[in-house]
Amino acid sequence: MSECFFAKGLSFSCKQCSHCCRHEPGFVYLSKNDLTNILQSFNLNISEFIQKYCRWVNYYDGSEVLCLQEKDNYDCIMWDNGCSVYSQRPVQCRTYPFWNFLLESKQNWDEEAKECPGINTGKLHNFDEIMRAQNEYSRNVPITKEQLKSLFGEADC
Ligand code: SF4
Repeated sequence: MSECFFAKGLSFSCKQCSHCCRHEPGFVYLSKNDLTNILQSFNLNISEFIQKYCRWVNYYDGSEVLCLQEKDNYDCIMWDNGCSVYSQRPVQCRTYPFWNFLLESKQNWDEEAKECPGINTGKLHNFDEIMRAQNEYSRNVPITKEQLKSLFGEADC
């Protein structure tokens, strides 16, 4: 049986080029925990935060899930000369690039490296670190409208 391509670890250090958070459309999904964490950076209640910074988007399973807005130029709404919520950033951002799809094959990983100059450079992350990040990413499912209402009451969403 062939060895997992990242059995000996993978190198990644973010170069802070902002390519992954600017200029192109994308989706930064928010889980319940993401929402709770990111709210610490704002003096807003849930309803105000969602109206100002979030949108509802269709998910692959047919549900509507919470996602950060983008600016007209497709920059992430949280981008302001860098990530303005870095210490409370969503799990999706924090666990990049150790996402399921990118770890599925060396080919996927190397394709992504063409977009991200931090991949295959810098700090070597060992297998256990990679698996921890991947598991955290997998568990961090985006919150649906129905879940939001039942968890946080009648948030005006
Ligand atoms: S594209 Fe890669 S190197 Fe650039 S900011 Fe995103 S994670 Fe960092």
